[in-house]
Amino acid sequence: MKKLSRQFAISDIHGCAKTFKKLVKDVIKLSRKDTLFLLGDYINKGPDSKGVIDFIFELQKDGYSLNCLRGNHEQYLIDGLQYSWEEIAFLSRGGLETLDSFRAKTIHDIPSKYLEFIKGLPYYIELENYLLIHAGLNFDLEDPYKDDFSMLNIRNMEVDLNKTGKRQIIHGHVPTAYQNIEDSLDFLNNHVSIDSGCVYRHIHALNHLVALDIRDRKLYIQRNIDYEMNTLKLVKGDITKLHVDVVVNAANNGLRGGGGVDGAIHRAGGPAIMEACKKIGGCPTGAAVITTGGNLPAKKVIHTVGPIWNGGNNQENTLLENAYKNSLALAVENGLKSIAFPNISTGVYGFPKELAAKIAVETVLEFQKNQESEIEVTFVCFDEENFMIYKQVLGE
Ligand code: ADP
Repeated sequence: MKKLSRQFAISDIHGCAKTFKKLVKDVIKLSRKDTLFLLGDYINKGPDSKGVIDFIFELQKDGYSLNCLRGNHEQYLIDGLQYSWEEIAFLSRGGLETLDSFRAKTIHDIPSKYLEFIKGLPYYIELENYLLIHAGLNFDLEDPYKDDFSMLNIRNMEVDLNKTGKRQIIHGHVPTAYQNIEDSLDFLNNHVSIDSGCVYRHIHALNHLVALDIRDRKLYIQRNIDYEMNTLKLVKGDITKLHVDVVVNAANNGLRGGGGVDGAIHRAGGPAIMEACKKIGGCPTGAAVITTGGNLPAKKVIHTVGPIWNGGNNQENTLLENAYKNSLALAVENGLKSIAFPNISTGVYGFPKELAAKIAVETVLEFQKNQESEIEVTFVCFDEENFMIYKQVLGE
């Protein structure tokens, strides 16, 4: 049967890029035949406003049909670009988080392609039976379409269908528990808010992002996953004992085994791992290869080669970063959901431990931020010194 094209509306994403991506890709499974309407408030308050707009750009580039409207938070940014006192207002309304996501000091540092996108957003879209808008219309006016401010900010309205060409209104802006949104899909009041308060993570009834299938009046729901940081764990002990999908070995270029964690993994995992290593032959510094886990509780071993510390001016930082990045990418490629790292290069390879810990944590966080599939990462510290350093770096 031919799949009919669907029309979806989503509103008030507020920097929750991971939740937005999951809703679009995994929950509604947007196809290129569908149309997605976004009702504004992409930015502010949440952790990754840049990521939200990047995903919009990515969908557009990949040929998906998108229509994006303006929200009051986009308007705060536009006003802030013009007047310095409005910039302060913008920052106090969750704009600081937006700047952080762009690594920008002021709103003028946000790259122009994002600013142009925001400045070009329209206030509303009319479909045959519905008006899509961020907040609503001021029906006290003869011509409510003359009041831009209300379109972005109004919270209470009694819809006058004569003024909308008989269109009912789908809007965001008013955080509403998704159960209540579901109950209001009969449009008894001629309007419905589809803002399920995604970014309000401490309010149990909110904390979800929804997509409304406009034609079927069906609601798709995704819990906020943007604040789930429990994918980073710290344990003290022996990596060969861990029940994870894959453990990482701090190997050498020849994959010949050795002392430290390398020796421990080969001893505990048995000869199957060495046989696989011999077949592979070797591994450049910063790269990663994968073998069986042999007799280990872990299914697989990823062998990566960290740099030997040689004063710090020989690309040591980048090579260590690569060792973590390539191991993570290889794990994801192999469909593995949990990975444990030793403190690569901090043994006989002599990398300063604090710097190594910082690089390890930052690289993993950056990777997880850009990754749709979740991977749980454990740092395993064998020695007390590394354990204390990691505790500090992870803020535990
Ligand atoms: P490198 O050559 O990369 O420095 P090492 O094996 O010498 O590799 O040391 C890397 C880290 O692994 C060190 O911090 C060391 O304390 C730790 N280590 C040693 N044995 C184990 C083990 N069984 N489990 C986890 N970590 C270990």
